[in-house]
Amino acid sequence: MTIKAVRGTRDLLPPDTALWNFVEETARDVFRAYNFQEIRTPIFESTELFARGVGEETDIVSKEMYTWEDRSRKSPLSDAPYEAAAEVLGKGQSLTLRPEATAGIVRAYIEHNLGQRGLSKLYLIGPMFRRERPQKGRYRQFYQIDAEIIGPPGSGSDSPVRDAEVIEMLATLLDRLGIKGWNLQLNSVGCANDRAKFNEALRQALEPVVGQMCADCQRRAVTNPLRVFDCKVPADQPIIEKLPRISHFLDEPCREHFDEVQNILAKIGIQFSLNDRLVRGLDYYTRTAFEFTHGALGAQNAILGGGRYDGLSEALGGPSAPGIGFAIGEDRLVMSLPESAESVQKKPDVYVAPLGAGMNCEAAGLARELRRQNLVVDLGDENFRLKKSFEAATRAGAKYILIVGENEVKADSFALKNLATGEQISVPRGELTQKIRA
Ligand code: AMP
Repeated sequence: MTIKAVRGTRDLLPPDTALWNFVEETARDVFRAYNFQEIRTPIFESTELFARGVGEETDIVSKEMYTWEDRSRKSPLSDAPYEAAAEVLGKGQSLTLRPEATAGIVRAYIEHNLGQRGLSKLYLIGPMFRRERPQKGRYRQFYQIDAEIIGPPGSGSDSPVRDAEVIEMLATLLDRLGIKGWNLQLNSVGCANDRAKFNEALRQALEPVVGQMCADCQRRAVTNPLRVFDCKVPADQPIIEKLPRISHFLDEPCREHFDEVQNILAKIGIQFSLNDRLVRGLDYYTRTAFEFTHGALGAQNAILGGGRYDGLSEALGGPSAPGIGFAIGEDRLVMSLPESAESVQKKPDVYVAPLGAGMNCEAAGLARELRRQNLVVDLGDENFRLKKSFEAATRAGAKYILIVGENEVKADSFALKNLATGEQISVPRGELTQKIRA
């Protein structure tokens, strides 16, 4: 039996990878214009980080994490080396493949005292892992483009200006990628203060009806009622529809903050709609929450989600560091591109075809010269007949074929044929780059 890629994972192959590169290069360019810098954090972290940073009650932590016990490491619960710790605790360190990026970035922010530098604008591109039911647009290894603005109190990281800045940056990125017809939904989930009152109201509203809801909701109603809004069970939706709304519970500072975010976005021409059911799947969110959706994506229509998380650093044992960020689902972003892989792929400018014995060395030398001039060059083999070289050049999508035979080498002038027009000219070595580029 042949071995296949594991369910929920997939190979990204050329030419599609050209689209992924196009997306990532565009994102890096746009982020640069807003003064963001790249961070790369490990793909696995201690399980504790996600339990605390995402929330025990979330679907991600309670059902979807790839967690294992690393028996080669000593347990963090003890200073004793693993063997001794194992004897006492019977355990190694619990590790988890990252299901999202924010917790790791905030961990790194705390660990390296990034707050000392004032405002940190960071982005990360990489794979995330969740044990979800695979379907179109939903994978177990998927890719996120994530950006965060975090900083100590006084750095302005809590300002509504930041919320509007990241949202406007996203609109710019989607526009730059040529993605049309996206929708932006906006909500404020308030702060700890509002949350306590809202949770209490939710508990009361749920009490008489929770018996008719799914098992997950029955558990959530007790442990973390806000998570009821994550429920996707159709039969529960009419009940959820009648539950209290967070928008009625915002205190004055939260309301003002949210108004200012909306005010800036409206002034700079970013269209949005309000959705006070938008709560996001993570526990640590405060105030602004947002989601961009795209109609063409089908059931999994969320391209990206984001929001503010003013208490996260403290929840991870760090200093106060209000922040806001987002995660783009890169798989879905690529699916919503109008561009085809063919159109963004960089095809060879020229296919260098050695013709006859001893020509491999000459051709390799010429290819080297042309590549040094930043041309994209494919290289044949002297054993190919001319016909086979033409076929290979055409298959590679090359613009020109350059024939390197004994006569050409002697004359130091080479036959250059335009594969589209069929026009062929003899070009002296020194003029090759210029001719090919033109
Ligand atoms: P989240 O971290 O859950 O807020 O997700 C942010 C974005 O990542 C979503 O809007 C999706 O575009 C994408 N995403 C989340 N989970 C998956 C998955 N299992 N497969 C593909 N994309 C995903």
